[in-house]
Amino acid sequence: MTMPTNDAAADSRGMLLDGKALAGRLEAGLAAEVETFADLCQRRPRLVVVLVGDVAASASYVKSKQAAAARVGIDSELIRVDESVQTAELVDLIRRIAAEEHGAADGILVQLPLPSHVDERAVLDAVPPDRDVDGFHPENAGLLSQGRPRFVPCTAAGVQRLLIDAGIPTAGKHAVIVGRSDIVGKPLSLLLAGRGTGGDATVTLAHSRTADLARVTRSADILVAAVGQPGLITAEMVKPGAAVVDVGINRITDPGTGKGRLVGDVDFEAVRPVAGWISPVPGGVGPLTVAMLLANTLWAAEIRLGHRRGT
Ligand code: NAD
Repeated sequence: MTMPTNDAAADSRGMLLDGKALAGRLEAGLAAEVETFADLCQRRPRLVVVLVGDVAASASYVKSKQAAAARVGIDSELIRVDESVQTAELVDLIRRIAAEEHGAADGILVQLPLPSHVDERAVLDAVPPDRDVDGFHPENAGLLSQGRPRFVPCTAAGVQRLLIDAGIPTAGKHAVIVGRSDIVGKPLSLLLAGRGTGGDATVTLAHSRTADLARVTRSADILVAAVGQPGLITAEMVKPGAAVVDVGINRITDPGTGKGRLVGDVDFEAVRPVAGWISPVPGGVGPLTVAMLLANTLWAAEIRLGHRRGT
């Protein structure tokens, strides 16, 4: 990849991939679409969120999802469940939500992680695939793997959107994704390797057992870090001019101030002079994850009313 011709390159700092600004633009478009839906259907799209236990980070993610839903005119309801809940009870709750005991739910989202005694797979499988706005149901994972995506996991969709919006070419480029989780790395590998806009890349999916990770990442035109390890990606691991997308969210104590702050998996200050583009944490992938959730919820509502095809 050649160095990008932009002002940021001139002062040899990677251009910022501003996820917050893009999410704002996407929200404005979604708000208009939601109004059209509401005019037509005499009701608003509705998202039901299930939050188990008292994990502070999960509660804060849910809060920002509900605030974003409100901004675009999507109704949302939060159902809080005690930490001690058993798998069967949670599955039953989801079935009852789907059966409309909590009013019409276009989208149903179970905030992860669940307590370790709960069978996460059984709970996620209970969400009807046509309301699975997180895209974690096997039917949606299968559709994505066959190249006919319906609900795509929001973070993976957000990363692809960020690349497309910035005009970063993917076709024929080498994309290295570090982290193979079902919710981020794996679906993103399918999106970037798929056909069409934001796809057609040659993808390497690296993980904790990858030998000589630095050699692999140095060959990346597009490098995505989705691990959960602060400082994992150093400047030496990045090819000059590469697009670096940081999915990681890690809370660390700042040695300077002694206060907690959020950082990604990339050593931002060291990598920025090497990279062609770089996403910050916070303000990079996170806001896009939320925007994609809103888009999926509107889509789920449209599918339910038969206004749009499902796949
Ligand atoms: P996960 O824990 O499910 O998976 C981590 C992956 O990293 C695994 O595939 C593992 O093989 C790999 N890994 C671990 N150590 C490694 C190493 N030393 N070298 C290479 N690979 C290694 O994580 P996840 O749920 O995909 O989340 C990853 C990170 O992304 C976390 O920090 C999480 O908080 C963040 N996240 C952010 C968003 C967002 O909206 N920005 C959304 C989801 C997750």
